[in-house]
Amino acid sequence: ATAHQRYTTANPTSSRLHVEATSHLPGGNTRSVLHASPFPLYITSGTGNTLLDADGHHYLDLVGDMTAGLFGHSQLKIQMTLVKTISSVGLNLGATTSTESQFAAVIKERVKCIEQLRFCNSGTEANLYALIIAKIHTRRRKVLVFKGAYHGGVLGFAAGVAVNNVDRDEWLIGKYNDVAGLRELITQHKGELAAVLVEGMMGAGGGIPGSAEFLHAIQDECRFNSIIFILDEVMTFRLAPSGLQSTILHPITHQPLSPDLTTLGKNIAGGIGIGAFGGRADLMAVYDPRTSPVPHSGTFNNNSLAMACGLVALPQIYTPSACLELNALGDELRARLNEVGAGTKMKVTGLGAVNTVHFVPNPAAEIRSVEDLEVDYGGFEEALRGLFYFWAIEKGYWVATRGLISLILGTTREEVEGFVEVVREFV
Ligand code: PLP
Repeated sequence: ATAHQRYTTANPTSSRLHVEATSHLPGGNTRSVLHASPFPLYITSGTGNTLLDADGHHYLDLVGDMTAGLFGHSQLKIQMTLVKTISSVGLNLGATTSTESQFAAVIKERVKCIEQLRFCNSGTEANLYALIIAKIHTRRRKVLVFKGAYHGGVLGFAAGVAVNNVDRDEWLIGKYNDVAGLRELITQHKGELAAVLVEGMMGAGGGIPGSAEFLHAIQDECRFNSIIFILDEVMTFRLAPSGLQSTILHPITHQPLSPDLTTLGKNIAGGIGIGAFGGRADLMAVYDPRTSPVPHSGTFNNNSLAMACGLVALPQIYTPSACLELNALGDELRARLNEVGAGTKMKVTGLGAVNTVHFVPNPAAEIRSVEDLEVDYGGFEEALRGLFYFWAIEKGYWVATRGLISLILGTTREEVEGFVEVVREFV
């Protein structure tokens, strides 16, 4: 209650803007994940890796738009590309351009098992289109996902059900990182399974890395049973130059993951709205208008701004060395936070520069699935999570209410160290 009071007193403008917004938007909100109680802070602008709120407070942005804001709020090359595109190309030409095939080539160069790909507007769309391919190709309709998975606004499985999805019967929900459970489910349902859809690290579910055994077991089972293996790299692509898949080596053959289809989004176009899905050419041919009646259409799929920024973001800014450097800093941050939290209920999980701060009953226990994160809601751990959020905000660090921290390019070791000190005081 005291934390809420201090927050309310410090942020009168946000409080007022929130009340106004509720008369137009349910809950004053148009992205549920950004809702915060008693009210979210209203941000007026961002520069680099900082944010300014409506009451004049500055923050170091440690959320980076849930990993999509990798490039920060004012990356010069992205700004120049946008201005140049607006002034000399046009916004959305409603026609085929060579930029989209050049952007596709950029992605293919990074992700070896993508033979063909298509663009769309979001990670959610990318997963929906990939699932359609799997269903058409296999002539089956069920999909295996994992409890806690988030594959988009209409594909969230936090509560173990597809809350937003109209066709609830189509989902089988397994336990993440449970190889024996996976094999059992596939044995039981292989005749009706079109696809397994999985994140290489459960992102919104709490930054839980998938083990190589688990992810390769999915791939092997899919191959053996002619099920389509879809790896959702919407959040994880940024964790390695060729995506997380390139780093997950088979326990025996040491080959990287090679999913049938990969979905992408978030930051691949420098922060402009985007999604992409791609993989085996024979599967992607489902959307070849020369030979297939199945449409993949979308007014903004090849919009000029996203396509142009896509040619710049990975090749010129998030180069392999920039990617490795940022993720090494993130690994350091996670290690430092776990050091300062040692012996308390705080535990930080994640990979590279995408991490999540948890408050758990037993921090010594390994977190391998969302079942391991089930805390007493309304209880002590949840209260700690709330206090951590208000503490960080008050000290000028922008963190997500659910504890997600993802570093923006250009964030320095000193900035990270400043945050570690603030967390040390909290602890
Ligand atoms: N898949 C994963 C793993 C995600 O983390 C997200 C977004 O957070 C999505 C899909 C959905 O992407 P979008 O928000 O662009 O629809």
